[in-house]
Amino acid sequence: MEKQEILRNIPRVDDVINAARHDDGLKNVSYATLAECVRNVLDSIRKDVLSGKITAEVTVGYAADMAVRAAREAGRHNLRAVINATGVVLHTNLGRAVLPPSVAENIKQVAMQYNTLEYSLDEGGRGSRHDHVESLICKLTGAEAAMAVNNNAAAVMLMLAAVGKDREIIVSRGELVEIGGSFRVPEIMSMSGARLKEVGTTNKTNPGDYKNAVNENTAALLKVHTSNFKLVGFCDDVKIEEMVAIGKAAGLPVLYDVGSGLMVDGALLGIQNEPSAKDALAAGADVVCFSGDKLLGGPQAGILAGKKKYIDMMKKHQFARVVRIDKLTLAALEATLRIYLDGDRAMKEIPTLANLAADKTDLRVRAKKLLAALPSMPDKFTAAVKASESQVGGGSAPGEMLPSFVVQITPVAISAAEAEKRLRECETPVIARIHQDKLLLDPRTIFDSQYKEVAKAVGKVFG
Ligand SMILES: *Cc1c(COP(=O)(O)O)cnc(C)c1O
Repeated sequence: MEKQEILRNIPRVDDVINAARHDDGLKNVSYATLAECVRNVLDSIRKDVLSGKITAEVTVGYAADMAVRAAREAGRHNLRAVINATGVVLHTNLGRAVLPPSVAENIKQVAMQYNTLEYSLDEGGRGSRHDHVESLICKLTGAEAAMAVNNNAAAVMLMLAAVGKDREIIVSRGELVEIGGSFRVPEIMSMSGARLKEVGTTNKTNPGDYKNAVNENTAALLKVHTSNFKLVGFCDDVKIEEMVAIGKAAGLPVLYDVGSGLMVDGALLGIQNEPSAKDALAAGADVVCFSGDKLLGGPQAGILAGKKKYIDMMKKHQFARVVRIDKLTLAALEATLRIYLDGDRAMKEIPTLANLAADKTDLRVRAKKLLAALPSMPDKFTAAVKASESQVGGGSAPGEMLPSFVVQITPVAISAAEAEKRLRECETPVIARIHQDKLLLDPRTIFDSQYKEVAKAVGKVFG
């Protein structure tokens, strides 16, 4: 067919819009967006005709399909749900902790209505946003006072600024950690206005190192949990109990960044060596801080708990306004903490805890169920249940692997890397793991309700 004739017969904008507009996938796409997509599609078709890429008549249906695809893409949220098949429970890139339904419901209630964010129903006037979680945190950790801020990095900064500005804070060289590429203890300290007094060496710090560093400018001793790495071999740190004794003798507060917010017995989660805020406070730490969205399993937040004298200094500090927690996070945090009032409920309802606690027997059953849900396409891929290991992630429990069972997929005609990429491009993206040129789907982080969707994605990828 002649180019001119094909061009003359290119469908009209209105006809393509009419053919496309009733597509189910376009419910959240405005008419204007669809119209723009149609115009763009017709433009590119016109170019393809001129360049000779298209040599036959273009139908309305063809143009409408292209426009629908483009409009769906345009209407899709950037921040959206994915299926985490990696087995990494606290995957920082995938949003760390997944919230329980009751917590999500509480966010919704607070979000859609006026609320008591800074209002006291007793007084009929101004209240404090700290009140909503303070007594819960105190109850769960044994602290005298508490507050929550935007994240743990902010909590550390506020703590150091309030207690140590223009003075020295002593910290072990073995604990000058970097977490997640953007949180570096030395840098946070210098931003806080406190001066870092490093003691000990990378692998060994002893009580004498702290004692010798104390002088009239010292404001506090700081301990930082080395969340995301492990020192092994010839190494020593000073336990919090010993630091508390040194602090007491010198009349100095001891601050402790415990990192993960573990609130249940770590053994229940298959985790060793994670400090808890409660234990740290019981050991005499004056202030502890930790994340809301690591082993606590709640929203992104930073929690500070400890002696009222110091927490009050932090509440009054100017930084507190800069790093303050927003109402939706607070709604989520309060609901999460309330679940912890009943420990058994926490293990069942909080996905982070349930996923970590899942044992091998349980995971084998789930892997078999997932395998059974997958389409059978022996000429495209083979699949089997295999023993494997999953990670805690989120800079918690470094080097500790959780025994697991996975569904291992061996593609026939494409590489595992290609299959992994295609899974990511599905309507509901599935994020999988590759190991030795096989694709692994780890049921530890795939919710039961997602098996169908995973099966659909696998069918599409190999179809
Ligand atoms: C994760 C972590 C932080 C940073 O916490 P965010 O909530 O991610 O800001 C700080 N300190 C320690 C020890 C951590 O493990």
